[in-house]
Amino acid sequence: MTQVNTTHDCDIAIVGGGLVGASLALALTGLGLSITLIEAVLPEDETQPSFDTRTTALSNGSRRVFEGLGVWDEIAREATAIRKIHISERGRFGSAVIDAAEEGIPAMGFVVENRVIGQALWRRLRHASELTLWAPAEVASATVEDTHSRIVLTDGRVVRARLAVAADGMSSRLRESAGVGAVRSDYGQVAVIAQATPGRFHDHIAYERFAPSGPIAALPIPDGRVGLIWTLTPDDSERVLGLGDAQFLRELQDAFGWRLGQFKTVSARHAYPLALVKAEAAQAPRTAIIGAAAQGMHPIAGQGLNLGLRDAVTLAEVLAESAGADPGSSDLLVRYAEWRRTDRNAIIGFTDGLVRLFGSQLSALRMARGLGLVLFDLSPTAKSAMSRLSQGFAGRLPRLSRGLPLLQRQSARL
Ligand SMILES: Cc1cc2nc3c(=O)[nH]c(=O)nc-3n(C[C@H](O)[C@H](O)[C@H](O)COP(=O)(O)OP(=O)(O)OC[C@H]3O[C@@H](n4cnc5c(N)ncnc54)[C@H](O)[C@@H]3O)c2cc1C
Repeated sequence: MTQVNTTHDCDIAIVGGGLVGASLALALTGLGLSITLIEAVLPEDETQPSFDTRTTALSNGSRRVFEGLGVWDEIAREATAIRKIHISERGRFGSAVIDAAEEGIPAMGFVVENRVIGQALWRRLRHASELTLWAPAEVASATVEDTHSRIVLTDGRVVRARLAVAADGMSSRLRESAGVGAVRSDYGQVAVIAQATPGRFHDHIAYERFAPSGPIAALPIPDGRVGLIWTLTPDDSERVLGLGDAQFLRELQDAFGWRLGQFKTVSARHAYPLALVKAEAAQAPRTAIIGAAAQGMHPIAGQGLNLGLRDAVTLAEVLAESAGADPGSSDLLVRYAEWRRTDRNAIIGFTDGLVRLFGSQLSALRMARGLGLVLFDLSPTAKSAMSRLSQGFAGRLPRLSRGLPLLQRQSARL
């Protein structure tokens, strides 16, 4: 790891080496650009906020991105394929199943612990010679000058980059320093995360269950366990987090039902307050905004990381296509933001709509969504559209998401 004490100049500084920033850094290696990655918390640190014990559902598009970055083989060892997605509502007649076999694909996606993805990315980053890693190092602010962005760290060090990339999460300091506002709407919900062992094997089915207390996802993970994401009101989440294992399992059972048999054990629980945070723009002078810094979303549809990875590889593709040009030119940044517009708006709208539909207690809406699930199950078109969406097929896809090398002339990345 390189540590420099004076002002450091580079082509691109990525602020935030979480799942999305680290992926961008890897995608940019080999393009002849000098890259500096600045990350506040080391990947092996237990407090690393991006690489924690959450389990993430990766789309097939994201799998292809990780294959292109050369990290999929390592991730795959601890990934569980999703063969079916089962959507239901407790106490209602509707339910729907999306089956990978019916869609003609081997898997709808893969479930992996964030920690596994993060460590695979950083192991590779540490061997990339053209990359300067500053970690732990925290960015305090940035100012934009004519030819570069001047990034100041909390310890006083300075990085001058022709392009600064904000990959520092929902409360991005770089985004704020660049003068880009963000619309924030709190859902008044908290996601309680844990891993549990059910009595029945999950059989590679991802369950999305809408209970009166809030939606619960049970994602298949190794050893027959499931990764739980249980969305609750702040009061309920506080109460549930205070329960001992046995009482927690009883309440989980009551909300989830018996599709997975009787839950037997549960890990420690963690809480994530949920909000929609949408940056008003995906670019500003000498600044690109990606991942959760561009949009933080509700995990109900498992789209946040998948979308963030498409931000990263789209930006990498625009930069690769413009070899020799100023990487922070407004032309290039506008091209990036324009390309991302449709995908961002579609996924944010879809996810937000789902939260509001299933969060409603109005009986007509409850009826409609029960009916909707049945119709959805009967309609091949709706299922295929949802299936494509959950695989990461919304809008024009960047090359790495399609399983192609970043540049046409590259046959394979190392
Ligand atoms: C409960 C839950 C479940 C989810 N499940 C899914 C799922 O199944 N599928 C899916 O696609 N998405 C899912 N998501 C969304 C996904 O986790 C996020 O989209 C993803 O973590 C965003 O990654 P990121 O790298 O953009 O930001 P972050 O993960 O927020 O990482 C930001 C990084 O920047 C660093 N940083 C912050 N400030 C500074 C600073 N000033 N200086 C230097 N470094 C800084 C942080 O230390 C961190 O490493 C889920 C989210 C939640 C909350």
